[in-house]
Amino acid sequence: MTELNHTHSPSATSWVASANAAGCDFPIQNLPLAVFRRTGSHEAFRGGVAIGDQVVDLGAARAAGVLSGLGAQALAAAAEPALNHFLAEGPSAWRALRHGLFDLLLTGASGPNVDALRACLVPQADIDFSLPATIANYTDFYTSIHHARNVGKVIRPDDPLTPNFQWLPIAYHGRASSVVMSGTAFHRPHGQAMPPGAKAPVYGACARLDYELEMGFFIGTGNALGEPVPLGEAEAHIFGMCLLNDWSARDHQFWEMNPLGPFLGKNFCTSISPWIVTMEALAPYRVPAVERPAPEPQPLAYLDNAGNNAAGGVDVQLTVSIESAQHRARGLSPAEVSRTSFRHQYWTIAQMVTQHTVGGCNLQPGDLLGTGTISGPTPSEAGAMVELSRGGTQAITLAGTGETRTFLQDGDTVALRGWCEKPGAARIGFGECRQHLATAFTKANARCAR
Ligand code: CA
Repeated sequence: MTELNHTHSPSATSWVASANAAGCDFPIQNLPLAVFRRTGSHEAFRGGVAIGDQVVDLGAARAAGVLSGLGAQALAAAAEPALNHFLAEGPSAWRALRHGLFDLLLTGASGPNVDALRACLVPQADIDFSLPATIANYTDFYTSIHHARNVGKVIRPDDPLTPNFQWLPIAYHGRASSVVMSGTAFHRPHGQAMPPGAKAPVYGACARLDYELEMGFFIGTGNALGEPVPLGEAEAHIFGMCLLNDWSARDHQFWEMNPLGPFLGKNFCTSISPWIVTMEALAPYRVPAVERPAPEPQPLAYLDNAGNNAAGGVDVQLTVSIESAQHRARGLSPAEVSRTSFRHQYWTIAQMVTQHTVGGCNLQPGDLLGTGTISGPTPSEAGAMVELSRGGTQAITLAGTGETRTFLQDGDTVALRGWCEKPGAARIGFGECRQHLATAFTKANARCAR
């Protein structure tokens, strides 16, 4: 776990004035990384660090030679079109880049390197993002006990929680190729579903399209095949976190899922927010792991240690909003449909890394791990529509327009937001993961339907 240092000081401000505005997601204490280029350009993608409404162009900063020593080495790797080499360099390099940029961006900093950095700023309004790393592997966990109970009630009303849930962080290996950047266009998927009471399945457009509010986290340094990561070392392998929407076709998923788990119900699109907030930036917001009062099972020894119990959780505030076509047409604010915190998650990210590797599986720099849907203890904290609508039986009403939804409709835009705030620490944010659901039928679907 990262200890607090001067880069977390709540009184620190930047000469980039927008970074000091109340409610800004990207103050000098955050400094998250993304990969970007100027909108409409054919420039090479390169790493960038958010500060206020600007991005520090790490390619330009590298060329200007604003950092030296380990900081320069880290900057060179982070200026590449994907952050994998930077992630592989490990915590000392990540720290050198953060601390080097912090010192240059601080109010009152001066000298030729500060002047050079000033010329490396690009407005965030003028950039496009690429995925921050080449993601070779994507694994999605299922670690919210509230989500597991809510969804379990839909599938197994008498026995919602599976017997393994409280003993290990459950996951499935997802599809890395369909992980996309926030904002990427996508369509309602087609597939096979078994309607209630029907004798045979039907093929067609998904009728129960859902979002899942999740966080993703990127593996920094990997582990060798056959060499598990002990719980006490797991945090050092995690670079940082982002927002993740695991789009889900519930009708396809519930028909296909037994006995091997999700397939087409999940593999058509998973979107992530552009900025990776580092574990060092999140250090002020670490909280104890969720308590497990008797008679709940206690974790087996390999998933248990004092550090994880004391500070394995992360208190990230999360919201989901839906903006319908009517909201847009009438100029209304999107309807917030869920609000919770990641602090309620039953298993910690360190426990997820250890469970993933305990059999010898090798994680690689840039691998993406999803936390699973994040639902809190109360009904309004549910992180998916299948929970909010009780399996599609109780429609929810969208604030503003009064429209109702059991699942998503074409034209809806879903936005996830995340931030951390508490007295005595600087507020930091994740920005947004936003995606618009276009019309269902594509030419490719039409060919399959013949
Ligand atoms: Ca999921």
